[in-house]
Amino acid sequence: MPLNILIVGAGVCGPALATLLMYADPQHKITVVERAPSLRVSGQQLDVKAQGLPILNKMGLQDTIKPLLVAETGLQFVDTKGKSIAEFGVTTGGKRNYSLTTDREIMRSDLVNMLYEASLKRRKEIDDSAGPGGSLKYEFGKSVTELSQDDDGVDFKLSSGETGRYDLVVGADGQGSRTRRLAWGAEASAAAFHPLGIHAAYYSIPRAEGEDGMAKWFNASESRTILMRNGDRPMTQVYLFARKNAELFRQAYKEPIAMQKEAFRQVYAGAGWETDRFLKGMDVCDDFYAHEIGQIKMDTLHKGRVVLVGDAGYCPAPFTGMGTTLSLIGAYVLAGELAKHKNDIGPALKAYSEVVRPPVDEYQKLPPATLSAIFPSSKFGVWVLQNIAWALGSLKVDQLVHKVLPAENSDGRWPIPEYPELNLPVS
Ligand SMILES: Cc1cc2nc3c(=O)[nH]c(=O)nc-3n(C[C@H](O)[C@H](O)[C@H](O)COP(=O)(O)OP(=O)(O)OC[C@H]3O[C@@H](n4cnc5c(N)ncnc54)[C@H](O)[C@@H]3O)c2cc1C
Repeated sequence: MPLNILIVGAGVCGPALATLLMYADPQHKITVVERAPSLRVSGQQLDVKAQGLPILNKMGLQDTIKPLLVAETGLQFVDTKGKSIAEFGVTTGGKRNYSLTTDREIMRSDLVNMLYEASLKRRKEIDDSAGPGGSLKYEFGKSVTELSQDDDGVDFKLSSGETGRYDLVVGADGQGSRTRRLAWGAEASAAAFHPLGIHAAYYSIPRAEGEDGMAKWFNASESRTILMRNGDRPMTQVYLFARKNAELFRQAYKEPIAMQKEAFRQVYAGAGWETDRFLKGMDVCDDFYAHEIGQIKMDTLHKGRVVLVGDAGYCPAPFTGMGTTLSLIGAYVLAGELAKHKNDIGPALKAYSEVVRPPVDEYQKLPPATLSAIFPSSKFGVWVLQNIAWALGSLKVDQLVHKVLPAENSDGRWPIPEYPELNLPVS
């Protein structure tokens, strides 16, 4: 029996899941509600690596994604005058070395747009081939305010006042998931968030003339870090990471964007390098996004007929570079298990939770020392870190690491399960 499905959140996971579900069963009735008034296409570079790209390939998106990947020419550590201290993964003769940057990165706007368009295209293909039943509907500017369930369905209320009943509700509404809060309760939902003690702001400013395509990393004292990325894009991406002033930031997140910008301004004023330019750009940018970095850890990913995918259920934190890949794995496995279990929700959700657990656990692992090491507090600590970066850069450690690491996508990590029942364009 096809299902009446509500997906909460049209970020990366939501549209990917909608597309996969339509391949499996064109007769599903799918509604995606998104809190924002339109597709939320802000955000910076996202990694799509390990299993991420093969899953997109299975969805027939390999040719669509290729031209969208960001070409970044390496990573440079800079001092307060902008002088290069060390370089990693620099492109030489078209050959890419291993570094923090990879050639599997895409702007969030391009990825979200691509997946959204893929879902609409799939629906159109089904409608054009005159398949009866089934639907896909996006509802923007709406959010779920109430959820309750019994053995046969989930009743919901939307912020618009509409009510209804679904067979299955999927929370794909990101790290701060309201679906998680409504289904598991405020206390359990808050306890699932494990902060890493870092506050981050991401936004774009105009690219300065002549600026190269290297990512640039700058450490200031007081545990402040700035990452600037140009790649081959017309805009410069600015990332501010701060490991102090937690209360100031937490208070600011409850306020409008202007107050959040003000908190970052206070903390970053006088940090050195190009901070003045970055703070001026922050004033006028329209894509500012700030949050407390943390991981979401849930013992169970489903409760009755409500299930969590992507950041809502297992955000691994941006520093792992695996959030997007995990969200694609989650969408693929959830759609796959539903198809495999012939849309029998109970066994399918149980299998989904078990199958995604190994990659979730693997990609949520964080080496404990790393974060404190890259956020030195004192000027001396910054000096030490810069000297370590210089030594590693001089020894060309990135190339050594690359030699001992297995190739991307064939690295012996968790193997993608096969679901012939999904009827994807590429097996
Ligand atoms: C605006 C934005 C910018 C981001 N920028 C970066 C970045 O620069 N770097 C990085 O590593 N990660 C960034 N992320 C997170 C990144 O997209 C995810 O970690 C990852 O891709 C997993 O995707 P997801 O679909 O699970 O969650 P997300 O991509 O976060 O998508 C969740 C979606 O749910 C919507 N939503 C939230 N609450 C509700 C609600 N109550 N009702 C309905 N809809 C709701 C959100 O508006 C969003 O569209 C950003 C996320 C957002 C929303």
